[in-house]
Amino acid sequence: MDSNLPRYSMFIDGTFQPASANDWFESFNPYTGEAWALVARGSAGEVNTAVEAAHRALNEGEWASLTATKRGALLRRLGDLIARDAQKLAEIEVHDNGKLLNEMAAQLRYIPEWFYYFGGLADKLEGAVLPIDKPDNFVFTRQEPVGVVAAITPWNSPLFLTAWKLAPALAAGCTVVIKPSEHTSVSMLEFCKLVQEAGFPAGVINVVTGYGDEVGDPLVNHELVAKIAFTGGESVGIRVHQAAARNMKGVTLELGGKSPNIVFEDAAMDDAVKGVISGIFAATGQTCIAGSRLLVQSSIYDTFIEKLVAFASTARMGDPLLAETQVGPITTRSQYQTVLKYIEIARSEGARCVLGGKEASGGACGNGWFVEPTIFADVKNDMRIAQEEVFGPVLSVIRFEDEAEAIRIANDSRYGLAAGVWTQDVKRMFRMAKALQAGSVWINTYRAGSFMAPFGGFKRSGLGRENGQDAIYEFLETKTVWISTASEVPNPFVMR
Ligand code: NAD
Repeated sequence: MDSNLPRYSMFIDGTFQPASANDWFESFNPYTGEAWALVARGSAGEVNTAVEAAHRALNEGEWASLTATKRGALLRRLGDLIARDAQKLAEIEVHDNGKLLNEMAAQLRYIPEWFYYFGGLADKLEGAVLPIDKPDNFVFTRQEPVGVVAAITPWNSPLFLTAWKLAPALAAGCTVVIKPSEHTSVSMLEFCKLVQEAGFPAGVINVVTGYGDEVGDPLVNHELVAKIAFTGGESVGIRVHQAAARNMKGVTLELGGKSPNIVFEDAAMDDAVKGVISGIFAATGQTCIAGSRLLVQSSIYDTFIEKLVAFASTARMGDPLLAETQVGPITTRSQYQTVLKYIEIARSEGARCVLGGKEASGGACGNGWFVEPTIFADVKNDMRIAQEEVFGPVLSVIRFEDEAEAIRIANDSRYGLAAGVWTQDVKRMFRMAKALQAGSVWINTYRAGSFMAPFGGFKRSGLGRENGQDAIYEFLETKTVWISTASEVPNPFVMR
């Protein structure tokens, strides 16, 4: 470990601090394959300090007594600071996750909207006076923050996916302990400087960095955590869900996918090609909503694959910081090996490789962890390459005959995060929107999202929703208050 690399400390109870054992771990740049920063390696001790600080901030002091209007103003101030530093934060993320600067800068410029939208919602969370059927009672409800929130995020879009949790949780009045991915923690720690500058009271936002078993596990099992908002893979999601059940905590899970992108014979062909490319090769396929199963109607199957391969083969791989680069490296060495392993699996299952199919190195790719944009044709939906999430630039193409078969294949998956449909038939658009088992259905578009639009998964893609007004209720608890207006307490042995 090169001890001269820049060091990034955790943010707990309003101050930056190293791990108590003074342990650090390396953060790697996927484009060079080399370590570029050292991050504090937290443990159960730091988790406990952070959760206790969050619990104190929730129940006593400035945050607890802040009006919802002032809380909203604080969120909007943070949004302004993120907008000011968007480019700098985006560059840090590119160093850590190797995604294109174009993509990360666009995300960072968009993140402030979450803080404006949920900041605006903070003082509009109304309870209700109930027209109760029991006379001599005045009954109303209150919307209260659920408590300390544990926010756990993956490596593909570090600050973007944190904002989806943080903005509604803070707007609801909760306090938060964030555990970013060990592969991409630096932008989150840089972000904490803005939290300080905005003037958030100590303990409201905390970040404990480290590994899943050393930080994530004690965090989800901590008795003072009331709610877990998790984005990541299915297997860790299940562990998190089990911990939540053991401790009776609320949980939101945003997990993986194997989303179908369905092209009918009446689609605008060139648009569909672009939509399919954006679904699988943008972000090097490292997105939960990757349209990794392409379903193409038989009558246009060969022509469509030809057009797709022609377009995809022009994709420029290289330095993610350069504006002309279109496909960057894979974020981690182990994920790079996983993607290559799936390419071998596809071959051994009999899928026909029509583009790419191997690692890329040298030239513009340097020593980075690059895999060529890869397309497998003649995939059957029961092959592993069609059923398992690859999380890389690997597309499986499956043939279908008619609408009923397209629906059957699309829904024949353990996942249900998203689906795309390319057609010009308006009636079919509505039929498909209803029939597809997915949390988001895109018609003649792909990979669209907004702070205003609920997002989440069906089936094994997750539980609960982020974004839109639905999201804030994930962080609120309804309390019902009964006040008797009767002149005396009636017979105590009869239920009222
Ligand atoms: P991962 O599940 O390996 O890790 C996610 C986070 O969980 C990391 O911070 C990790 O350190 C932490 N973790 C690991 N073990 C833990 C434990 N025992 N207890 C608590 N936390 C633990 O996922 P990843 O490889 O970082 O990210 C890729 C996955 O994320 C893919 O499956 C992708 O589909 C999914 N994802 C989903 C969405 C969505 O919104 N649905 C968005 C992006 C990514």
